[in-house]
Amino acid sequence: MVCKGSDVLTGRRSFLRSGVVAAAGAVFSGVRHGVAAAGESGSSLWTVLSHEGRDYLPLEQVGRFYGLGAMQRSGSSFALGPGEGVVKGHSASSDFHISRLKFILSYPITDLGGRLCISRVDLVKLVEPVLRPFKIAGASSVDTVILDPGHGGSDKGAVGKLGSEKDFTLDVAARAGELLGRAGYRVVYTRSKDEFVPLEERTRKANLFSRAVFVSVHFNSGGNGTGVETYAMSPRGVPSMSLEGAHLDALENYPGNQRDAENAAFATAAHAAMVVRSGLFDRGIKRARFHVLRELNLPGVLLEAGFLSNSEDMRRIASAWYRQQVAGSILEAVRNYRRAIGGAPV
Ligand SMILES: [Zn+2]
Repeated sequence: MVCKGSDVLTGRRSFLRSGVVAAAGAVFSGVRHGVAAAGESGSSLWTVLSHEGRDYLPLEQVGRFYGLGAMQRSGSSFALGPGEGVVKGHSASSDFHISRLKFILSYPITDLGGRLCISRVDLVKLVEPVLRPFKIAGASSVDTVILDPGHGGSDKGAVGKLGSEKDFTLDVAARAGELLGRAGYRVVYTRSKDEFVPLEERTRKANLFSRAVFVSVHFNSGGNGTGVETYAMSPRGVPSMSLEGAHLDALENYPGNQRDAENAAFATAAHAAMVVRSGLFDRGIKRARFHVLRELNLPGVLLEAGFLSNSEDMRRIASAWYRQQVAGSILEAVRNYRRAIGGAPV
């Protein structure tokens, strides 16, 4: 199907609004057509600005590069793209939306001399692979999915009123494995029963496979938190958004960093599907150097599929129907990711 950019962009937003399955596929394919028409032209002139030792690029140039047209500004907020905008955010904020899906930038949008700018690392490591996954160099297709149910055995993970994280993660992985297997994927589990498996063992097993992606399933706990979030490996140098805080390890180049672009694209597919299917609050796509992401040679994500400490989330997580939705979102994510990077759908 050949579409004009603006038609596709409008359609994509409504895909997400109506909660139609394959939201991420719509994100990917829509932009693919949209930028094919305009994104490659007029892109040679970038104004690189320096701030706090980092490079920044003006958002109006980003809009032009991706064929999204002129930037709309209203107070501290901006939008790129037709209608309500496809890419949206605010000055001094790390919250960033692409096609209504929330991303947490590594550095806030910054006003430099009256121009709203995005950091180069966020542009290169997030915006680019999300908007143009089909351009990711060397992205390998997927016929195997490694499912990693968090915790197990003596490690219960978070404990809620209606059950423990380790049991819910195992159940979601089993349901996802069933769906993936039926769809023709090879499925590998890092654990398939209630046992303790060290993190090192999980990544060692995963790294035995190629043409594979890794999905770690977890549930959250703490504070007043509610909703779903998805973690991708932090690019080198940026702060981790998990409780680990900022460490010198930010400067290391880990195995997981070989897959920065694929990680961002796969996280987008995973998060879009989970947000739509779960119906829970969108906490965004975040970055962390969790062991299971850091030591992977494959593209990987870590899903936090709701809060056991929140009574409404807990009630849902305890229902088989909800866990089936999360499992379904994993199948959908793998399919959409595979399609987005240019592989044939399975
Ligand atoms: Zn966990």
